[in-house]
Amino acid sequence: MFLDVPAGAPLHQLLTRATQRLHTISPTASLDAHILLAHVLGWERIKLFVEHTTILSTEQITAFDRLVQRRASGEPVAYLTGQRAFFGLDLLVDPRVLIPRPETELLVERALQLVAPSTQPLVIADIGTGSGALAVALAVHLLSAQIYATDISADALAVALSNCIRHHVAQQITLLQGNLCEPLPEPVDLLLSNPPYTVWDAIDWQVRTYEPRLALDGGREGLEVYRRLIPQAVAWLKPGASILLEIDPRQTTELITLAETIFPTAEITVTEDLAGWPRVLAIRT
Ligand code: GLN
Repeated sequence: MFLDVPAGAPLHQLLTRATQRLHTISPTASLDAHILLAHVLGWERIKLFVEHTTILSTEQITAFDRLVQRRASGEPVAYLTGQRAFFGLDLLVDPRVLIPRPETELLVERALQLVAPSTQPLVIADIGTGSGALAVALAVHLLSAQIYATDISADALAVALSNCIRHHVAQQITLLQGNLCEPLPEPVDLLLSNPPYTVWDAIDWQVRTYEPRLALDGGREGLEVYRRLIPQAVAWLKPGASILLEIDPRQTTELITLAETIFPTAEITVTEDLAGWPRVLAIRT
């Protein structure tokens, strides 16, 4: 046993032990332990506090022990449970897709603000959809929008499809396999993307070990995909359309310059995330 707790130990002792075991690997050790145990038991997390003296079966303890051991070797919690909350939705995730990050929710917020005044049904494109997080969140909130979601990875699109079905938006979302905008069948009102933008060698080893490189690696300076995507997008925008891009705060200046070069008359703005970092670049043509 990885956790090494005495037989008959109550639930809270398992959690304490797991938290200790995860401290070196995770800044959220206690939360990780609670999420994993709630997953094993099929409980809401709150119940772990209420029922903290429960004594678990050997099978339950073994299942939890295995998950904690995997987490201790760096595997992300979301892959261990197979899900991740995003914009109030439970999304299915597995190693075929990037785990949606909380900062990406800002892209959804900005998109909803941008399109709010519109009365016509909108056509939206989510480029490099991965798990489908952005497309599904927008579909749920914009019932009349028609959304194209592209990805070069057929594996990722299989996960996106499960999320479309799970959240009853498969009718609204068309999944298209291909490179960036290439598979789009028509110009759109809003094009958004959280493209791969990291400098691969510089990112956290846990992310590098477990998450798909295709979804993360933005080349030498992290800008390669934007350099292809922004010029390519020109042909896929209806008059007056907008582009929303997630960015790394350190890329802000270069990306504003790139956007200004391609769209000299557009209104370009940057929105900060909750931590005060520039996170979303908006180009209103
Ligand atoms: N925010 C992600 C990370 O830091 C990167 C996402 C991306 O490349 N689009 O791991």
